[in-house]
Amino acid sequence: MSQVVDFNALAKSGIQRLRAYDPGHDLVALRREAVDGLTELGSNENSHGPSPKAIAAARSALDEVFRYPDPLGGDLKRALAKKHGVTTSQILLGNGSHELLMQFAQVFAGSGDEVVVSRHGFAVYALAVQAAGAKLVLSESLPPDAAMPLGHDLDAMANAITARTKLVYLANPNNPTGTWFDADAFDVFIKRVPANVIVIVDEAYAEYVDAPEWRSAIDWLPTHSNLIVTRTFSKAHALAGLRAGYALGHANAMAVMERVRESFNVNGPALAAAEASLLDEKHLKSNVDATRRERDVLSAALSARGWKVWPSQTNFLLVEFGPETANIEQQLLSHDVVLRPMAGYGLPHCLRITVGRADENVRLVAALDALKEKSHG
Ligand SMILES: *Cc1c(COP(=O)(O)O)cnc(C)c1O
Repeated sequence: MSQVVDFNALAKSGIQRLRAYDPGHDLVALRREAVDGLTELGSNENSHGPSPKAIAAARSALDEVFRYPDPLGGDLKRALAKKHGVTTSQILLGNGSHELLMQFAQVFAGSGDEVVVSRHGFAVYALAVQAAGAKLVLSESLPPDAAMPLGHDLDAMANAITARTKLVYLANPNNPTGTWFDADAFDVFIKRVPANVIVIVDEAYAEYVDAPEWRSAIDWLPTHSNLIVTRTFSKAHALAGLRAGYALGHANAMAVMERVRESFNVNGPALAAAEASLLDEKHLKSNVDATRRERDVLSAALSARGWKVWPSQTNFLLVEFGPETANIEQQLLSHDVVLRPMAGYGLPHCLRITVGRADENVRLVAALDALKEKSHG
């Protein structure tokens, strides 16, 4: 028998050094073992659930799955264009926004190019840059004692731009920190960025924001053709399992991206559900209101127990549990509560906690109290 091929050596140099995205725990296995159900607060899903109209639309689209979906996604694009005040040619649909975040780097950055990312920015950006074979330029986050600890330092990010820079990835609000930047800071930043450097603003959690100083980067699209904004149906719309996301930008940028987009990247049930969800504003509002309320309740409950909770404009909280973090995370698992460890982000003393329904949050706090009881008793 011949020797097994060294596939890593055959891979392109950027891929050779890459580690696959860490999805956290094997949830299917954990669900199977959980006696009384698993409390899943590790993936920032929206357990309030999607609009019943979205589910009905997806069901009826199932009758048509022997056909390819609409490769243009025309109906969804028209609904999005109306909502955001853009033309359909300014919209790019993705199999989740993750796909698009990867493709932007693939299209616009390669060997010899630089891409600027904040140290505690969403992990997918670094993955995208390395997979494209470009150089990752990590900009330090704001210090722990800043008003927005570990948030993007927009000033430092602008300073990190060189003649080699092709892209900058920002998340507003950011995952895993929950931090955000305000309209004035973004305005200063975007005016400093040279016109041939593309700025991607990932707004996966935009719907949850209630800070009055925040504004969507969509407002800057008419004046900055180098700006791209991404959104998703996975979070506030509660459609993570269907995979639908989109980017908004200049029509010329979207046209270049279209060249590498897989023709049928968004499936029929996902297109139908996303459109219906967009139109059901009442459901979205009630979901977002519930999460904001629970965010305050959970944040207060954790702070009252002495843990440091980051300010958040998202559906999750970054919480510092100190040196016992890994132990707490493991013990919570034995109570069938799943959170997201943060060691991969260089934050081993923190866990990221999705704000769930009231009953889920109560279960989490009860499990934490039981651990405390045990360690003191
Ligand atoms: C969840 C998330 C996404 C979106 O994921 P998709 O499901 O692929 O749309 C994008 N960016 C951030 C920061 C996220 O947390």
